This record gives sequence, C-alpha cells and structure tokens, in this order.
Amino acid sequence: MKTRMPADTHTHTQLCRHAGGLPIDYARAAAARGIPEIACTDHIPFPNDPHPSIRMTRAEFDDYLRHVREAQEANLCAVLLGIEADYQRDLVDGHIQSVLDQADFDLVLGSLHTGPFWDLAPGDPAATPEFVEQMVRTYFLRMAELARTRLYDVCAHFDIVKRCGVRAPEALMAEIVPPALDAVAAAGMAIEINTSGFDHGAAEAYPSLQILAWMNERAIPITFGSDAHNPDQIGRHFEDALALARAAGYEHRAAFRRRKKTLVPI
Ligand SMILES: [Zn+2]
Ligand SMILES: [Zn+2]
Repeated sequence: MKTRMPADTHTHTQLCRHAGGLPIDYARAAAARGIPEIACTDHIPFPNDPHPSIRMTRAEFDDYLRHVREAQEANLCAVLLGIEADYQRDLVDGHIQSVLDQADFDLVLGSLHTGPFWDLAPGDPAATPEFVEQMVRTYFLRMAELARTRLYDVCAHFDIVKRCGVRAPEALMAEIVPPALDAVAAAGMAIEINTSGFDHGAAEAYPSLQILAWMNERAIPITFGSDAHNPDQIGRHFEDALALARAAGYEHRAAFRRRKKTLVPI
C-alpha cells in the first residue's frame, strides 16, 4: 500500500535568498510526490535585518503574498499561506504582530536561529561539557519564552540546537526540555517533525524520538515539515518521519486553516 503523505508545512522560496523556486514550483513538486498540501513559510521581514541574506525585505512582502496566491490558484495541491516568524526578543514588542496583522495567515512557525550551535562541530575544542550545557539551557529557555509570547502556532525544528551533532547528555535533556514542552503545551501550540535534520550533522529529525514521546505525554500535536529550500526537497524523509511519529505513539497530526487547528489521522 502506498503511504498516505501528510501536509508539508515548512518550505522556503527564492525570496529567502538562500532557497530556489517559487511557491508554484513547490506546489508542482508536491503534487508529483503525492503530497496533498503545502504551506509556504518564508522568513518574516525584519526592520533592521541582522541576517539580510536569509529573508525577504518588507518591500517584498506583497510579492510573497502574490506568489502564494498564484500557487493557490493553480490548483496543483492545497497551498497554505504561512510564515516562519523567527523569535527575537527585541522584535516581540510590536514588529512580529504588525506583520502577522497584514495578511490572513493559515499558520505561523516560531523558531530560533541564533546561538553558537549554528556552526559548532563535534570535537570542536570550544564544545566543552560546560559550554554545551550553557548553550542547550539557553536555547530551551528561549524556546519557552517563544511559546509564552502566544504569537505562534507551531514550533519549528524544536531541538535544532543539536544541528551540528553536538548533544547534551540524556540526563541533562530530561531536566531542561520538559519545562519548555510544558510552555508549548500551555500555549496550545504544535511542534513540527522537521526532516531537514536528517541531512544535517544531527543526522536525525528535529525533534528526537525521546522528545516526541514527552510531547505525546502532553498531547502536543505534530505537523510535518521538510524545511525545503528547493522544490526537490518537498516531503524529504517523510516516510521516516511518519515511522518516528508512530513510534512515539502519534496517530494524528494537526492541520491548519486561518490559524485554527484540527486533528487529522496520519
Ligand atoms: Zn528555521
Ligand atoms: Zn525554515
């Protein structure tokens, strides 16, 4: 029997400057892979952009909306209007909400992209146990903060702090991660299974099976996201992600329309 594929609710277009393809190219690729629905989730524009290489400018926001609309009207697969609204403490007061107010988004991803985990390699002399502990503690404290803003629907790549393959010990994770999950559950958010991790140094999905099990204990719903930066990455490793979800006890995923979520079988 052919696997029924879930929606891919994390994709990037060429407006992010580090990705290729337009929403319609992703919709076409999804239809070819048997993926019934995608969400376009380009990075939110920032006012004084600290990372001008990865996001659209405010002036390009209308182009983004137009490209998504064109993909929706092509009827290749369902296309949702989303956005990856990176959490930055200094932008919470007003900026993120002001962008979210400018369109009828279907879903809003919250994510963290700043921290030393981004370019740390296993065996790096900087990665002492103390350094790793501090890095991971800070990361998950920020994730709890992100949830408490109530600005977001879905946590993207929840444990991307392991991106380069540098990990905190299990016992430490068992202390640090559950409080962040409690904050996510209290916010009514979902957490995506982001399959880009299979292709990073981490060599597994974000989040891990252990974290998925803790999520399931808290009834935190899941979504599936490839974080595709090219149309040929749509739905990457989704068979593995479905197996992982089932191993953690999941039988449903969250679906979003106009920021309202429903649960559908996987
Ligand atoms: Zn991201
Ligand atoms: Zn992304």
